[in-house]
Amino acid sequence: MLSKYDVSGPRYTSYPTAVEFSDDFQNSDLVNAIAASDTDDLSLYLHIPFCHSLCYYCGCNKIVTRHKEKADEYIDYLCREIDARAPLVSNKTVKQMHWGGGTPTFLSKQQISRLVDKLKSAFQFDPNIEMGIEVDPREIELDLVDHLYQVGFNRLSIGVQDVDSKVQKAINRLQSTEFIIDLVKRAKKVGFDSVNIDLIYGLPHQTTTSFANTIAAVKNIDPDRISLFSYAHLPSRFAAQRKIRDQWLPSSAQKLELMQFAIESLVDMGYEFIGMDHFAKPDDELAKAQCQGTLHRNFQGYTTLGDCDLLALGVSAISAMGQSFSQNVKTLKEYYQAIDGYGQPLEKGIVTNTDDVIRAFVIRQLMCNFRVDKHDVEQRFNIVFDDYFADDLQTLLVFINDGLLVNDNNAIVVNAKARLLIRNICMSFDAYLKTKLHQQRFSKVI
Ligand code: SF4
Repeated sequence: MLSKYDVSGPRYTSYPTAVEFSDDFQNSDLVNAIAASDTDDLSLYLHIPFCHSLCYYCGCNKIVTRHKEKADEYIDYLCREIDARAPLVSNKTVKQMHWGGGTPTFLSKQQISRLVDKLKSAFQFDPNIEMGIEVDPREIELDLVDHLYQVGFNRLSIGVQDVDSKVQKAINRLQSTEFIIDLVKRAKKVGFDSVNIDLIYGLPHQTTTSFANTIAAVKNIDPDRISLFSYAHLPSRFAAQRKIRDQWLPSSAQKLELMQFAIESLVDMGYEFIGMDHFAKPDDELAKAQCQGTLHRNFQGYTTLGDCDLLALGVSAISAMGQSFSQNVKTLKEYYQAIDGYGQPLEKGIVTNTDDVIRAFVIRQLMCNFRVDKHDVEQRFNIVFDDYFADDLQTLLVFINDGLLVNDNNAIVVNAKARLLIRNICMSFDAYLKTKLHQQRFSKVI
């Protein structure tokens, strides 16, 4: 069944997806969207694009360099972007902040402190703010977590991917599992609320036998949350991936086995399966939110705080403010030029219309809760669900016939066994995904 539905499709971290963003979107559109937004809660995202070395599987926007001082110049420009954006959101409280990359821990302790101080002085931080940072467990000292905690971070996310040395060599990411175990122990000791690790299946030379060692390591690392991602091999789009030979990769059937093995093993270990690719301990906020039907999804994946605007700062960062999505320019050179020239680095975006908002709500319900309450949608948006989505509902028939979901007068309910096909089901409600050509711009669903 999974093979039958293994097509390319969006991950729906936003709807409309980033491929719909247009150069016509202007800074004034963003300013207007912020002014019209009716939420007082804000989430901040900072993109730190530098990395010490290149992981061959990587599809992120990053700059590989050994020159730490490059980050000083970048922080100078980030501070200017903060100065340009903060006055627009002075009425909002920052409930959540996340630093991603690249490698946020490319920054020295001094650079991290400088940036946090700047953010705290420019924005209004909630005393109970969730502050998360992605950590590359190479090239850092254990006491970095002490410093991160002191400046306010309370959530860590560590890229583990796979502990097997042959796999690590093939992806150019050699790292010590013992160090990761010590890092997580130390983070918990100093007071971090939650530690996440990322795992990837479908990497070169991975077998269920080798991946069993990674799963066993998870037990020793003992994270609160796990993100399990599928490796998307798109060498024509990501030059680094050309270093990974096709013949090193598991076949589609082996990849499915790896995924199934990982899911079953993590659930056996006591983790709750969250959404389509996350796992959390039953007492973790994410697991509780899924249980209560309040789980949300944004550009960083699943989250408990949904009704926040998202202001993203830094090169290539994507914001979701009011009824808009917008993205900054993608290269460092353009970023510096845009801030020098125009005082802000916006590249493109989209003002969402009412249809986008309705469909985004339905897609989010499916991605997070695997269920759409038709009456809830009708009340929120003043529509008759079955009439409004008459064409879209026709495309659900294939899933209904395969026993993957139920569509009755009250709700659309996705069966547990169709969880991994949730992206396919969401595609039925995507008004932009009409041509096959368009679909090819996304990675495989499985
Ligand atoms: S995977 Fe992370 S650390 Fe590796 S190159 Fe990509 S952004 Fe940098």
